[in-house]
Amino acid sequence: MIEFRDVTKEYPNGTKALRGVNLTISPREFVFVVGSSGAGKSTFLKLLLHEEIPTGGTVRVGRFELNNLTRKQIPHYRRQLGMVFQDFRLIANMNVYDNIAFAMRVVGRRERAIRERVAYLLQLVGLSHKAHSKPSELSGGEQQRVAIARALANNPDLIIADEPTGNIDPRMSRELLDLFVQLNEQGTTIVMVTHAHELVRQYNKRIIILDNGIVTADGGLRQAPTLVPPQPLHRHPTAPLPAPIYTQRRVG
Ligand code: ADP
Repeated sequence: MIEFRDVTKEYPNGTKALRGVNLTISPREFVFVVGSSGAGKSTFLKLLLHEEIPTGGTVRVGRFELNNLTRKQIPHYRRQLGMVFQDFRLIANMNVYDNIAFAMRVVGRRERAIRERVAYLLQLVGLSHKAHSKPSELSGGEQQRVAIARALANNPDLIIADEPTGNIDPRMSRELLDLFVQLNEQGTTIVMVTHAHELVRQYNKRIIILDNGIVTADGGLRQAPTLVPPQPLHRHPTAPLPAPIYTQRRVG
């Protein structure tokens, strides 16, 4: 579904944001992309969205070779993606129903099909009772569920989520993650960029670690989460380091 082959991205000022990234994400996978600030996560997403093009290598998503997308193909390409952002990006003066319906109207769907689909999606994200509320009347978690419903409006095969729990409290974050897992189990490929390491540890999914523009690890969690006893503030200098969280193929 997604293939990065020898991808490099150098910005005009000479910063190399990605340096020889190779990865393949198969249909129906659930992948977390993590890494510290400046690691290249946003650049990775921008390449996926065709907001930037690589300076070296190729990016392929589904049947689209992104380096060679024509101007005409770009809207078709983006339409097959569902995007979820940290800041929700809902339209403030539209109610919940219209925020979701809008995504279908712009692609020319008929009102009857829209009514059915939006009702289904609102039920899926548990917000049928909020259809007529404005985004400002909802909690952060609720707004993000609307954004997920909107991302699903045109039935994408792939959802790309950029730090979707960044503005949401931990309990709601978990509920959102559970929703993504449910969507994934129904066949949607999920690629989620996140800083929320604690949350990531609670799910046994593939994790790609970016560091300084390079994929430094790619794989799954070793085991289900275990409760880690509180660490003393000052570890004895000879005490063993905690076991690594991830068991991953080291790359490069
Ligand atoms: P992350 O999302 O992991 O924080 P980014 O992809 O935003 O990482 O950034 C990777 C590197 O590329 C950083 O060193 C950043 O300063 C640099 N960078 C990002 N965008 C630009 C840009 N438009 N022009 C120049 N450098 C950039």
